[in-house]
Amino acid sequence: MPSDMTLEKHRVIAIDGPAASGKSSVSEKLSDHLGFLHVNSGIMYRAFAWSVLRSGIHAGDARAVVEHLHEIQMHCGVSGDKATVTVDGVDPGSELKSSEVNAGVSAVSQVLEVREVLVAKQREYLNVADIVMEGRDIGSVVFPETPYKFFIDASIEVRAQRRSKEGIIDDLAARDAIDSNRVVSPLVASDDAVVIDTSDMTIEEVLVEILDHLYHKGLNQLDEK
Ligand code: C5P
Repeated sequence: MPSDMTLEKHRVIAIDGPAASGKSSVSEKLSDHLGFLHVNSGIMYRAFAWSVLRSGIHAGDARAVVEHLHEIQMHCGVSGDKATVTVDGVDPGSELKSSEVNAGVSAVSQVLEVREVLVAKQREYLNVADIVMEGRDIGSVVFPETPYKFFIDASIEVRAQRRSKEGIIDDLAARDAIDSNRVVSPLVASDDAVVIDTSDMTIEEVLVEILDHLYHKGLNQLDEK
């Protein structure tokens, strides 16, 4: 990664972890607490997968997926204090969480060219604001220089329960397997990430633990809202 574009501009808190580990809820609370912009990189992969599927392309057809990548315009921006994604000017909205997207997103996310394009867009957010970015490879690949890295985990049973409470059909084990075993940027806790198992924790407890680590690592308390 080009080191000249990192932490001199803004700070990044990297929150990685598997699906339904609690990373979205805690990233939202953390960004709100600190006044940082919350960027969910999973939404970018989901928006691209949505566009692939809508075009009738099979998510596992890597060649067609790459062709599609070069045919569309994906825009990742900011509206108020929220990060936004559109594909050819359309916001996919609630379709980002559809069972079809859940089933196809990990296949398109393992394609190298897709990752290169989306990682570049993720890094651009650093020109805009201090950010809390969640994903799978934020601490390991997107912003390896940040001193603020967390890996949020939970048992597969707890994660499956969380998803079913949301009424969402999502084969977590299948997504975990593809995300963790892919060749490019697999889901992995960086050696220097703080690992937090949220299986028996409330979101508030996770937030307190993260804030505690951040202050010990020197994140200035005066920067909070
Ligand atoms: O975080 P979320 O579950 O919404 O992510 C959806 C999918 O996007 C993941 O299962 C993974 O395949 C992909 N993803 C990724 N790298 C990221 C964020 C998400 O590969 N940084």
